[in-house]
Amino acid sequence: MTLPIPIDLEARMDELIRHYPEDRRRAAVLWVLHLLQDHFGYLGREQVEWTATKLQLAEINVWELIRFYPMFSEVPRGRFHIKVCRSVSCEQCGCGSIFQQLQKILGVLPETVTPDGLFSVSSVECLAACGTGPVMMINDELYENLTPADVDRIIAGIRATGRIEAPRLLPVPPAHPLERRMLMTAMAKPGYTGSLDDYLAAGGYQSLPKAFGMKPEQTIREVAESRLKGRGGAGFPTGVKWKYVDRRSGKPIYLVCNADESEPGTFKDRQLIYRDPHLLIEGILISCYAIGAQTAYIYIRGEFAAGAEILARAIEEARARNLVGDTILGSDFNCEIHIHRGAGAYICGEETGLIESLEGKRAYPRIKPPFPAVKGLFDCPTVVNNVETLCTVPFIIQHGSEWFRSLGVAGSFGTRIISLSGSVKRPGCYEIEMGKITLRQLIDDVGGGTSRGLPVKAVIPGGSSMPMLPADKLDVTLDFDAIQAAGSMAGSGGVIVLEEGDDLVERALSVARFYAHESCGQCTPCREGTLWMEKIIERIHSGHGRPVDVDLLMNVANNIDGTTICALGEAAAWPIKAFLRHCRTDFEQAVAGGKS
Ligand code: SF4
Repeated sequence: MTLPIPIDLEARMDELIRHYPEDRRRAAVLWVLHLLQDHFGYLGREQVEWTATKLQLAEINVWELIRFYPMFSEVPRGRFHIKVCRSVSCEQCGCGSIFQQLQKILGVLPETVTPDGLFSVSSVECLAACGTGPVMMINDELYENLTPADVDRIIAGIRATGRIEAPRLLPVPPAHPLERRMLMTAMAKPGYTGSLDDYLAAGGYQSLPKAFGMKPEQTIREVAESRLKGRGGAGFPTGVKWKYVDRRSGKPIYLVCNADESEPGTFKDRQLIYRDPHLLIEGILISCYAIGAQTAYIYIRGEFAAGAEILARAIEEARARNLVGDTILGSDFNCEIHIHRGAGAYICGEETGLIESLEGKRAYPRIKPPFPAVKGLFDCPTVVNNVETLCTVPFIIQHGSEWFRSLGVAGSFGTRIISLSGSVKRPGCYEIEMGKITLRQLIDDVGGGTSRGLPVKAVIPGGSSMPMLPADKLDVTLDFDAIQAAGSMAGSGGVIVLEEGDDLVERALSVARFYAHESCGQCTPCREGTLWMEKIIERIHSGHGRPVDVDLLMNVANNIDGTTICALGEAAAWPIKAFLRHCRTDFEQAVAGGKS
């Protein structure tokens, strides 16, 4: 069957396909599927056949993607598809009331379409806006700080006009006295739009020519001597990662920017992408120069469609001023930057899962070694760096590694953007000098204290995958070593506050549900164990828990920990084990007070 594809739509696909090597055109498949779904409203048999022919794939290779990536749908959704975030921080802010209000005023159940074909609603995992919850997305637009009354107004507006009123980006508040802003300085200036002119006026693109004045290996040395650690989660030293790149293979070298921010409690990279895209582009260009890459891909999570457009516009702005493309700024350095849009799977944040996804496959993490620095994207040497990490690079080149090491404390130099959410009065992104403020100061002074003024019960200090710290650890400083010594990890810098009176069994259920939903399914302990953890906590939470369930839950978590291909297994097990270690009585009381 011939699919009626408009000429301009196919031309757009062809342009995107050319962003990948000739013999790796399969990599464009997520783009092709996004465009087809946007046009037809769903991905059915005809769309699959057409995609398979277009990219010379077996149809099964297309079907397996549609069924792996949650953003794709085999059935038509409403013209306005609404996604309500249900992750742990949004749950604490009352996302349930938003979801219920939508179902009430639209008269639909989840995943069904209103009779006029206009609306459908679903609950989804983290939308990376934990500081402004509850949030929902309508098509590609994000609505923050919602109340049920806002929902009524927004839906009425769409019904009246037949279109979406794009919400404005919320302003960046002035720096708190305990902040030490570096990456967030320009974006907070009144009237700063993130355009190339604004970025240049703020002193941007001065580090790139400085890097060109150094040899690539000197640039690597400068970053290595800064002791910058990756800001994505693992905290691996960036300069060391760059040094590992195999430069003798004769193959192209790739840089991949990991912009797949989707760990509940983490929402800093979205700020950088949406508000200061040229800072990221300058960081990418310097990093490519250092490692010898001429092509960079920004793997951006599928839900950041607006962010992908902002970045694409910024790349073209930079190209027009000879900052991207051939002979950049008159040097002999050529570099192309391409946007690669994901489709809603958290496991794409794992670097080898991300590489598989970028190659147009399901995001199954690879067994390491070989590490990406030796065999990564398209079997070539590859560096994968996080958005915030890359945005820090221009500052290191501009001011030098010694200056960078003057910020922070040994083992944790520089600044870091903390995403603060949960039961706290002023959630948001705060850039702090590492090791210079405590969790207590972050919550009480920067964050204005807990939501209801009750004592802190516990804090998850590094995104939902990290073990919580109990309230007696609030005087720990915010740096990699101190948080590890206290019994957790700094992870992605997402700090989630839990207050006395919060339903901790419900919070644990939210965390467990997230990882069960996001397991890629390759390893039995992760695939089965995450579902069992969710099931047991659900049973306890619904009042049907059995006295054996608390120990059984710990047993399942122990059997996942350390037995899987990638770190998602630990990411699922560690937080649940910590919930049981520090809040066991909450689970026991839920069992004792239950219905069975
Ligand atoms: Fe997939 Fe989980 Fe195994 Fe990671 S640990 S490879 S997410 S099944």
